[in-house]
Amino acid sequence: MDFFQKLPKIELHAHLNGSLSNSTLSELHVLKYGKEPATERDESFYKITAGQNLTLKECFQKFKYAHDLTDQPETLAYATRAVIRDFAVDNVIYLELRTTPKATYHMTKTQYLTTVLETIRQAQKDYPTVTVKLLPSIDRSKGLQEATENVSLVLEMHQLYPDIIKGMDLSGAPYGTKFSDFATILERAKVRGLKMALHCGEFPDDDEVWEMFQFGTDRIGHGTFIGGSNLKFAKTNRIPFECCLTSNVKCSTVKSYEDHHFKKLWKAKHEVCICTDDFGVFDTSLSDELRICSETYGLSTQDILQLQENTIEYTFASEAEKQQLTKLFDLFKNTLKDN
Ligand SMILES: [Zn+2]
Repeated sequence: MDFFQKLPKIELHAHLNGSLSNSTLSELHVLKYGKEPATERDESFYKITAGQNLTLKECFQKFKYAHDLTDQPETLAYATRAVIRDFAVDNVIYLELRTTPKATYHMTKTQYLTTVLETIRQAQKDYPTVTVKLLPSIDRSKGLQEATENVSLVLEMHQLYPDIIKGMDLSGAPYGTKFSDFATILERAKVRGLKMALHCGEFPDDDEVWEMFQFGTDRIGHGTFIGGSNLKFAKTNRIPFECCLTSNVKCSTVKSYEDHHFKKLWKAKHEVCICTDDFGVFDTSLSDELRICSETYGLSTQDILQLQENTIEYTFASEAEKQQLTKLFDLFKNTLKDN
C-alpha cells in the first residue's frame, strides 16, 4: 500500500447512488434480474460497467442503473453496505453519505430511509474502522412539495437515529427553482440542529450563493463559480469548500485538473477538503483524488496530512468523535516517524 492508501481519510461529499463500483452494480444486476444478460438493455449495462474512459453520457447512464437497481429494500441495503465496505477498504475512517429518500414501486420513502439507516447501523459493527453518518438530500429538481415531505421525514427519522443523521444536503439541477423557496423548508431542519451541506455555486449565480451564505450553509458543495465578495465572505467566515476534482473534470464544470478552483483556494488558505462526489460513476477513490491533488498542485506529504487533519474539523461529528479521529490520525503520523 502506498502513502495515499495508508493515510486515514475523511470523506464528506459522497452520494450513495454515485458510489456504487462497477462490481457492485454487476452484483446488484444479478440480484435483481438474474445472471444472464438477455435483452439489449442488459448488454449495454455490461458494456458500461466493464468500460474504461467512459463518455459523460455513459457515466450518467451509471446513475440511471444505480437508481433502477436500488429500488427495493434488499438491493438498497446491499448497495449501502457495499459502499461502506469500499470506503473502509480505502482506509476512510469517517464518511458522510448523502442520498435522496425515494418512493419506488417496491418501497415508501420511509422504508427507503429506514433501510439505509439500519444498514449503516449494522455496517458500523461489521466495518468498525469507519464511522458513518447520513445527510439526507433534497433534490431541487423534484420541487417544493417533495422537499417539504422529505424534511418532515428526515426530522421524524432524526429522532430515531440522532447518532447517524447529522445534517442535510441540497442537490439536483437548479434550473427553474429558487433557493429562497427551499430555504424556508430547510430552516425547519436547521432549527432542530441539523447541519447544512448545500451544493453551492455549481453554476454562476452570485445572488444565490449569497442567499445560501445568509441562510447559513455549514459547508460549500463544489463552489466552482464562487468569486468576488462571496469568496471573501467564505474566507472570513471559514466556510469549508468540498472539492471533487475528478467529478468536476469529467463533468466539464472545470477545464482540467490544473484549472480546478482547488488550486486558488488552497493557495489563498481557504478552508478546503477533497472529496469524491461519486467514486463509482467517475471511477476513482479518495486515495486517488488525494494523489491527483498532491501531484497536480504540488502538495507535499506534510500538506496532505494537514489537509486531512483540517478536514476533521469540517465534519458534522460530535466533539468526542472528532477527538477520536484526531487520535487515530496522530497514531498514523507516529508510524510515519518510526519508518
Ligand atoms: Zn455532489
